[in-house]
Amino acid sequence: VITCLDPRTDPAHFLGLGLSDAMVVRNVGGRVTPEVINDVAFISQLGETALLDGPLFEVAVIHHTQCGTGALADDTFRHRYANRIGVEESSLHEQAVLDPRATVTHDVERLHAAPAIGGRQLGSQRGRDC
Ligand SMILES: [Zn+2]
Repeated sequence: VITCLDPRTDPAHFLGLGLSDAMVVRNVGGRVTPEVINDVAFISQLGETALLDGPLFEVAVIHHTQCGTGALADDTFRHRYANRIGVEESSLHEQAVLDPRATVTHDVERLHAAPAIGGRQLGSQRGRDC
C-alpha cells in the first residue's frame, strides 16, 4: 500500500489491516517517487527470491482529497519549500495532489513504466475522500 503520511489516511484504519497484513509505504502525498519505485522493486525481488513461482502481489496507490500537498500549488509556499529542501521548484508542483483520481492514475502508470518493477505486480487505483 502506497499512501500519504497524513494521519487521516492511516491504511491500518481505513483498510482494516492487521499486523503483517500488508507492507505500507507512506510519504508526502503517497506519490510514486524514484525512492518508492526502489522500495517496490526491493519487495518484488524479495518475493521472487523466496517464491520463484509465487503469486502476484498487488500494489495499491491511494491518494486522498484535501491533501496537504495542495500547498505545493501555491507559488509562495512552493518557492519557500524548494529553498528549504534544496530542490528545483519546478519539480514540486507536480507532487501536489489536487485531483486524487488523476494523480493515482499517473502514479500507477509510473509504476508500470518503471524498468525495475517486474511483471508480477498489479497496480490498483483508489481514491479516498476525507
Ligand atoms: Zn495527503
